[in-house]
Amino acid sequence: MIKELKSYEKIEQYDTEVTASLADNYKTIIDNLGEDVTREGLEKTPERVAKAMQYLTHGYGLDPLEILQSAMFTEDHKQMIVVKDIEVYSMCEHHMLPFFGKAHVAYIPNGKIVGLSKIPRIVDAFARRMQVQERLTDQIKDCIQEALNPLGVAVVIEAQHMCMQMRGIQKQNSVTTTSSFTGAFEKDKTRKEFISLISNKFS
Ligand SMILES: [Zn+2]
Repeated sequence: MIKELKSYEKIEQYDTEVTASLADNYKTIIDNLGEDVTREGLEKTPERVAKAMQYLTHGYGLDPLEILQSAMFTEDHKQMIVVKDIEVYSMCEHHMLPFFGKAHVAYIPNGKIVGLSKIPRIVDAFARRMQVQERLTDQIKDCIQEALNPLGVAVVIEAQHMCMQMRGIQKQNSVTTTSSFTGAFEKDKTRKEFISLISNKFS
């Protein structure tokens, strides 16, 4: 299993056994799809796909709760903290096709805050697995709630699903929005403030 990866380039430590086994399977898949796996362009494809897929699921090797707990600070601040437009790249577990978009995360601290860069990191740690958008939204919310015990957490994800756009009903521009709230965000006023903050375009 891959550990703690920060960028695509950095991964040199693929498990050789897993990579070989995956590559073998992809060879069969390519063959079953009617292609010639021995032709030049495809020769190294099974191994490349094996590595790409391990990267796309490297979240299994990360512990999101630990990521948050590693950078928590005591702080009196009691206002809403919003991190918006976090890039999300995940893979739908029903079709193993990508879904991607933006996550917007907010919380209202209750004595503890977390280093801001950790929020995108836990989004990524949960997204880099086989997922459904609904569960991804809840997992991010639950993780922040558990680590910080804040007055409330809000998570909104807007994503496009390749399994809808490239196959099936082929709705090219549909965006799926999911949201999950706890505590103070269950109140209309607070939730509206959050929605208006993430809707504002500053550019
Ligand atoms: Zn799907």
